[in-house]
Amino acid sequence: MEKETVKCLIVGSGPAGYTAAIYAGRANLHPVLYEGTLPGGQLTTTTVVENFPGYPNGVDGFQMMSDMRTQAERFGTDIRFGIVTKTDFSQIPYALTIDDEKVVYAETVIIATGASAKYLGLSDEQKYAGMGVSACATCDGFFYRGKIVAVVGGGDTACEEASYLSTLAQKVYLIVRKPYLRASRIMQERVLSNPKIEVLFEHNTLGLFGENGVEGAHLVKRKGMPDEELVDIKIDGFFLAIGHQPNSEVFKPWIRTDEAGYILTDGVSTATNVPGIFAAGDVMDTHFKQAIVAAGSGCKAAMEAEKYLQSLS
Ligand code: NDP
Repeated sequence: MEKETVKCLIVGSGPAGYTAAIYAGRANLHPVLYEGTLPGGQLTTTTVVENFPGYPNGVDGFQMMSDMRTQAERFGTDIRFGIVTKTDFSQIPYALTIDDEKVVYAETVIIATGASAKYLGLSDEQKYAGMGVSACATCDGFFYRGKIVAVVGGGDTACEEASYLSTLAQKVYLIVRKPYLRASRIMQERVLSNPKIEVLFEHNTLGLFGENGVEGAHLVKRKGMPDEELVDIKIDGFFLAIGHQPNSEVFKPWIRTDEAGYILTDGVSTATNVPGIFAAGDVMDTHFKQAIVAAGSGCKAAMEAEKYLQSLS
């Protein structure tokens, strides 16, 4: 197997990974960054980012990540396509296998692998994968022009996706399990005042139906209550927006996580339980999950990696 030794390895290419790369590059750590399965991270699947400071008119998520990548490259980051398939952190330098075909030994590692969309766990989600089920409205919304779609979830993502889909689809159902939305007030107002969006509060999805793709969903209203009611809706597309799970699996044999899989870091630091291995962004953020916070923690991780390397010499 091919082998290589690097000073600083960054895994992941969202705001955390690229910011870490910018700082590590400027600190002369000659960072190598593996982009992972979704180059640019979750923001490449969003529409306009309106809350990242410095963009008074908002910025396209894909464009923002492309700009961060260019900035990381400008300071010498070696950006590569590939995913970490195995880790061995039992000794220094740490060994990370890439795509099962190459081992990179790193003196310090910054884990910025982010999080991935959650699914409800219904067998129909797999049955209709690519045939009407999606976890990314921005990626797949185009296919539902003039059609009827449903979005599951009551958070900011669900509201954002429902609003976006309402610009394409004829009608959007928002399936919310509680009697209220969890989203921020501004997003709630956008959804509730949108005539193309119908919010189905206190509804849960039981399954999907359709001959050659999704044609509808079986829902239950007020599940477990005396007035529980089964409801079928006719839809062409079913979009999940119920949160994300951290991409930490491959590091778990060595790196401590909480029960949900979020990497545990040491207080305000990005240090993990293994010296010289730092975590930044959504993979360790149980609370905020914002691009600006991820970028900030990427900065911290790179500065801590630099300090760690100095302490070795
Ligand atoms: P959240 O965790 O905030 O919301 C998840 C939603 O999905 C909740 O309404 C939850 O319901 C629902 N849900 C979870 N599991 C199920 C299930 N099994 N069945 C039905 N419904 C389910 O995730 P988001 O992705 O929306 O947001 C994550 C973070 O990112 C938040 O901090 C959010 O503010 C932020 N964000 C900000 C944006 C912006 O500012 N532009 C855009 C997008 C996200 P329940 O409420 O009942 O738990």
